[in-house]
Amino acid sequence: MTTVTFESVNPATGEVVGSHPKQTAQSVQEAVGRAEVAAAWWAELGAAERRRRLLDYKAVIAQHIRDLADLVHAETGKPVGDATLEIVLAITHIDWAARNAHKVLGRRRVSTGMIGMNLSATLEYLPLGVVGVIGPWNYPVFTPMGSIAYALAAGNAVVFKPSELTPGVGVRLAELFAESVPEHPVFQTVTGLGETGAALASDPRVKKIAFTGSTATAKRVMAACAENLTPIVAECGGKDAFIVDADADLKAAADACLWGAMSNAGQTCVGVERVYVVDSVYEPFMRELAEGVAKVKAGEHYGPITMPGQLDIIRRHIDEATKSGKIMTGGPESVRAPFVDPVIVEDVPEDSPAVREETFGPTITVRRAADAREALRLANDSAYGLAGTIYSGNTRRAMELARLMRSGMTAINSVISFAGVPALPFGGVGDSGFGRIHGADGLREFARPKAISRQRFAMPGMNLTSFSRGAGELERLIRLVSILHGRRKR
Ligand code: NDP
Repeated sequence: MTTVTFESVNPATGEVVGSHPKQTAQSVQEAVGRAEVAAAWWAELGAAERRRRLLDYKAVIAQHIRDLADLVHAETGKPVGDATLEIVLAITHIDWAARNAHKVLGRRRVSTGMIGMNLSATLEYLPLGVVGVIGPWNYPVFTPMGSIAYALAAGNAVVFKPSELTPGVGVRLAELFAESVPEHPVFQTVTGLGETGAALASDPRVKKIAFTGSTATAKRVMAACAENLTPIVAECGGKDAFIVDADADLKAAADACLWGAMSNAGQTCVGVERVYVVDSVYEPFMRELAEGVAKVKAGEHYGPITMPGQLDIIRRHIDEATKSGKIMTGGPESVRAPFVDPVIVEDVPEDSPAVREETFGPTITVRRAADAREALRLANDSAYGLAGTIYSGNTRRAMELARLMRSGMTAINSVISFAGVPALPFGGVGDSGFGRIHGADGLREFARPKAISRQRFAMPGMNLTSFSRGAGELERLIRLVSILHGRRKR
């Protein structure tokens, strides 16, 4: 049988980067079968040896950082420097997951309480088996690795379906892993289009799916998973807000806002898309923003729009925004495929698609708010809830606003800084999805708690789980409960 292939293309030049098989449902099922065997071997290997192998994998990636960055650059069009940065971040996550897996997931004793004083109790987190990872193209190393590294560190085998736009990067990540773990295919990549991902999500032997992409596709994946009660973790993008408070360092805020919005051509799930500025500093902030954006150039500071279809969405959002909003920078003419120059529009109605839907382009809407509370109310009025930013000179107020922000992550006086802290969980609420990657929560996401209670000695006169239990035992139990729990707190 001839293998049907598809090509990955450099979005900036149209050059073919590589050709990859469109893997059929059958070949995905074969990969899952191999992964099941590999998962059993990997789990048996033990935490210490897995840690050693993952730290070695980290070193292999670090040694290949230049050629991997070149490949990311070729398939996404992003500057090599940005590609290098995302690989560095991925390395820090592999390192953290490897070093912390046993501490977070390993067996520990837990307190049994007075009523269970004759018991000993242990808790540990066991591997699930085979984990399916369905990845995006915008950060083809960093984003899927947030699931892959944590799933592997938790003792699972991984079958990875990269985006059809970045298959070469996905294949390379698995090839490099095999240098550290040559014995079994513990980490495999399957290439293809949406159907290949669908085959992975529908396989009952896959014990969890980690998905990153659009909310609409997440729902389809979840429906496929529902057939087998396969749990999923869904990271579905956002419409992140950036709040500038009255006493913020405006120069720093404008600089961070521009980078958060425009870097990677705005194709960042936690990128800045909406900006709310407190009235008293609106004009000076806008002056800083204007000064900064004048120096930012598409094709120089950031690359092209990776997914050609995205250009239509960006164009529609700009058209809608500029109908009633005030253009500060750019406009409909900023879309010059495959590049999009920076676009900043003020006073866009809050019901405009440019404010409500994920744009995934180098565009922002800016709006005046009476005070920080109003800015927060506007920020929270979104179906999405992935991340957000607060610039403020008052740490206490910034912390309070951050805690009230309806999002999984918030950065204060920095942008996207949480993504570089491996100990922090990453994920959203609402249309941004659910479940967490990264940190201890990210490790537990790919494991199942195993609870064991063991009776150490029979409690004299207190055999409560027996048909031979008498009235005296019940009386003693009531007296004990009254002493332990019967005192009211007034
Ligand atoms: P999708 O959500 O369609 O795709 C994400 C991943 O899911 C890809 O690997 C894709 O494969 C795969 N996939 C597609 N259909 C299925 C299916 N039925 N079952 C299983 N897997 C499937 O995102 P797009 O890449 O098309 O981008 C669309 C929008 O999503 C963007 O405009 C952006 O707004 C958002 N997005 C958000 C990201 C984030 O970081 N949260 C990342 C990327 C996009 P294939 O590529 O082969 O179709």
